[in-house]
Amino acid sequence: MAKTPWGELPISDAHVHFFSRPFFTALARERKFDEPEPAAALLNWELPARDPALLALRWISEMDRYGIARVCLIASTHGDEDSVGSAVSSYPDRFFGFFMLNPLLPDAIDRVRIAARNPGLHCVCLFPAMHTYSITDERVVPLLEIASDHRLAVFVHCGAITVGARKKLGLPSQFDVRYGNPLDLHPVALHFPKIRFIVPHFGAGLFREALMLADLCPNVYFDTSSSNRWMLYESLDLRSVFRRTIDVVGLDRILFGTDSSFFPRGWNAPVFDAQAKALYELGLEADEAHRILHTNLVNLFEREKTKA
Ligand SMILES: [Zn+2]
Repeated sequence: MAKTPWGELPISDAHVHFFSRPFFTALARERKFDEPEPAAALLNWELPARDPALLALRWISEMDRYGIARVCLIASTHGDEDSVGSAVSSYPDRFFGFFMLNPLLPDAIDRVRIAARNPGLHCVCLFPAMHTYSITDERVVPLLEIASDHRLAVFVHCGAITVGARKKLGLPSQFDVRYGNPLDLHPVALHFPKIRFIVPHFGAGLFREALMLADLCPNVYFDTSSSNRWMLYESLDLRSVFRRTIDVVGLDRILFGTDSSFFPRGWNAPVFDAQAKALYELGLEADEAHRILHTNLVNLFEREKTKA
């Protein structure tokens, strides 16, 4: 149980990056380092041990420190789903497994097929603007068919996107934000009604479009993660963002998240504090807050994934 403005409540986090050893190695390679150590040193982040179980344990102690019940761990480079799969298999009652996938790479479909049979993996994460494709591209269809058949959720990053680690390492980010329009997801979410789609950060700047999408598609969920800096584009604050989301989408498709990622920072408690304060000031009752902060996420995954 965590301390909240309503008293002690269970909290679960829908958005935590699992920066594993392979994640650091992939970044280091791009920076032309043979080893991950200099990349970690430049970032001033802790380099995790080779065994992902140790990073998983690090997150467990962090969760215990704050009273966090469950966390979705995101493998944050293409091809790293085994790190998260193994973390989830070590602590299946505490983690759900998400993994980034670039559907344009030749091994993408095989990876999804294998992941669909792994009980530790619950959600594929797509970043159309980062990997420069449209979510309506026909190359994405076979992947979505597997997700639909095997009850994998699909996270689709929309809106503004920056990768802090790339910036700090001086790596180019040749993204194309035109591929981040939530409206592109509309025909896809309609075509795959069994897939639960998660749009992080309320659409990250395309809030109105994200609201339209979720209004039209009952299988679209929002995660609330990050500082939501995009609110500057529309002079919105967290209270108004939550108010409008609850009015349009209701209480049951909002998933609390922080976008925590590296150590030593660990779990990003100020993000939680700001969101909990906004919800409290809006006048939400404890049982309503409980749904956003915990129950919706657990309901989304706990009863859903059946293995074929
Ligand atoms: Zn993130």
